[in-house]
Amino acid sequence: MPTPPRGALIIGGGIGGLAAALALHRSGWRVQVLEQAAEFTEVGAGLSIQPNALRALDALALGDQVRARAVTDAPVGTRRADGAWLIRNDVDRLTRRYGPWATLHRADLLDLLRRALPSEVLRPGIEVHRVHPDGTVEHTGGTSTADVVVGADGLHSATRRSLWPDAPAPRYAGYTTFRMITPARPVEGSVESWGQGDRFGYAPLADGRVYCYAMVTAAQDGTGGLADLRRRLAGWHNPIPALLDSVEPDAVLRHDTYELPDLNTYVADRVALLGDAAHAMTPNLGQGAGQALEDAVVLARSLEAARTGDSTIVQALRSYDRARRPRTQMIARRSRQLGAMAGQTRPPVAAARDAALRMAPASVFVRSMHPVVGWTG
Ligand SMILES: Cc1cc2nc3c(=O)[nH]c(=O)nc-3n(C[C@H](O)[C@H](O)[C@H](O)COP(=O)(O)OP(=O)(O)OC[C@H]3O[C@@H](n4cnc5c(N)ncnc54)[C@H](O)[C@@H]3O)c2cc1C
Repeated sequence: MPTPPRGALIIGGGIGGLAAALALHRSGWRVQVLEQAAEFTEVGAGLSIQPNALRALDALALGDQVRARAVTDAPVGTRRADGAWLIRNDVDRLTRRYGPWATLHRADLLDLLRRALPSEVLRPGIEVHRVHPDGTVEHTGGTSTADVVVGADGLHSATRRSLWPDAPAPRYAGYTTFRMITPARPVEGSVESWGQGDRFGYAPLADGRVYCYAMVTAAQDGTGGLADLRRRLAGWHNPIPALLDSVEPDAVLRHDTYELPDLNTYVADRVALLGDAAHAMTPNLGQGAGQALEDAVVLARSLEAARTGDSTIVQALRSYDRARRPRTQMIARRSRQLGAMAGQTRPPVAAARDAALRMAPASVFVRSMHPVVGWTG
């Protein structure tokens, strides 16, 4: 009699959880996704999917569909608040070396991931309370057990709280992030601009609308909405004031920015953390979702040997941890360092930063991206 497929429970139906579910489903696991929200919906805004993340999506057989819904140009560069160029990328060279970048609406990516899964895999409206190392999961629908449990339940992960009770809490990064989508208008490509403590970025979406974000140095739990942002960036170069003027206040998402201090391991017996639950990072490099996608691909690959009986699940998860922890923690560190440089508040230091960036040859920036976007699996 053939052995029944092994079962995996995924906690959380965000980008990481759905990607893990898809990767495991494709490699023959019986999968269920427990999601606390009543529906698998996404408000969100835009998302930058860099070449490494696109390669992970290719491994999930979704790369072409993502490219079809996205603008696939490499970032044009970084400007000063007055518009002077600090970094001007050689877009063709970047694309030749690493492949395309993609910008799309976050809801589009989630939609593609969801549609690729059989609907019975998705179990919305179930909140997980507690996870045990033997694969038992307590939730609002009762108790479930699985051969492997994937905690993809985000920054405030209940999986992490259950099994890593001594892990330090997420820490405030010192800035708040605004995200918004403007009505359609032409912009020259994906550009980020740096002032002294504030940053603003914009990137076109495939339907002509423009995804915008701002990072503003501010106290934790501070107030201040679109009107405050418009005031702070009033003298910045075009088209920033016009983009901000075109947004409705209730279309703006504002979140304080947190990152998770490094964990010593992402796995405990039959349970693995994935995505933000394992390594929530600052958004400066635009890599959080990309790393969750890479995690999903590597997790399924590591577990392949356990599905076919060549190794135990515990061994397979250890191999996932060895493959993913150094890389994701390196990227989280780089993202933090970039945030410290880009969000510099002291005028003389910001001026020195700008002068150094303007003198550096473009090849320096191409090379510096390699450890992050050069991932090939
Ligand atoms: C401002 C900002 C901009 C960003 N821009 C980019 C970008 O351009 N590119 C990029 O790659 N990344 C970006 N990121 C990072 C990216 O958004 C995250 O890294 C990514 O969404 C993490 O996905 P996840 O599935 O791990 O977690 P989440 O998206 O947080 O999903 C977790 C899911 O688990 C569910 N859940 C939580 N607790 C429970 C529970 N107890 N029981 C059941 N379900 C539960 C939640 O409802 C949610 O659906 C950005 C982040 C921010 C804050």
